[in-house]
Amino acid sequence: MNSKIVIAHRGASGYLPEHTLESKAMAHAMSPDFIEQDLVLSKDDIPIVIHDIYLDDVTDVATKFTDRKRKDNRYYVIDFTFEELQTLSVSERFNPKTGEQVYPTRFPKGKGNFKLHSFQQEIELIQGLNLSTGKNIGIYPEIKDPEFHQKERKSLTEIVLKILSDYGYKTKKDNCILQCFDAIELERVRKKLKSELFLVQLIEFPEETKNLKHFATFANGIGPWYKQILDKKVNGKWQFTSLVSDAQKLGLKVHPYTFRADDFGNFSSFEEMMQTLLIDANVDGAFTDFPDLVVRYLEGI
Ligand code: CA
Repeated sequence: MNSKIVIAHRGASGYLPEHTLESKAMAHAMSPDFIEQDLVLSKDDIPIVIHDIYLDDVTDVATKFTDRKRKDNRYYVIDFTFEELQTLSVSERFNPKTGEQVYPTRFPKGKGNFKLHSFQQEIELIQGLNLSTGKNIGIYPEIKDPEFHQKERKSLTEIVLKILSDYGYKTKKDNCILQCFDAIELERVRKKLKSELFLVQLIEFPEETKNLKHFATFANGIGPWYKQILDKKVNGKWQFTSLVSDAQKLGLKVHPYTFRADDFGNFSSFEEMMQTLLIDANVDGAFTDFPDLVVRYLEGI
């Protein structure tokens, strides 16, 4: 992993509903280095590829299983069996309160015929496409909300590690990066569960960046929100925090999220975002909803 990597964030999610197999197949055709999976357990312990522990912002669960919501009015993946989950239709992401589509210029909400699927089904799609195309695209699974799963008496991490091992992902050489926001859980994966996989510690809040030295005792990289890399713009040029250089000095790769061509936040264009973070700040990879654009950009530099 010497050059900069492109991670297809939730698949080619800028073009097709996130985490659908269609979005993963499209991402594969765009030749990123890795395709991402977010993982949440079903009631019958099948890891489902979905971004949240909730179902009601990407499926029609609220119309098909009206009486299955919890007191907080949300529908939880963990309350449904795999068989039940497969009866749901998946849609482009929307706000469950207003029904409004989150990214208005993306695939239209409620259109098409998309379904939820298991982690195993997605690994088989990617490994199958690797064989049929001669590519070697990796997987980049995320253990979602370990604390929630533990409260529900579920062992998501152990189940995921077993599946990874069954499909040949055991060490750093096996083209798999395992990510998690929960540092206690990721440390447990390395030290207690003795995983030899490439591990990435995700970082959401600025105060967590103080723990880099500790992260380096179990992780091989960090996945920060890109805003933690930026300081301020002076005379039209971005200044950076010391996060990237501090991490790289500790031997940690830096893969910030999320590069979106229709939502580039602090930047004046997507081009500026790519140039600033990938070149000027010298990060090692990018989570992106638009893998084709970042692949093309990196080919051109
Ligand atoms: Ca993720």
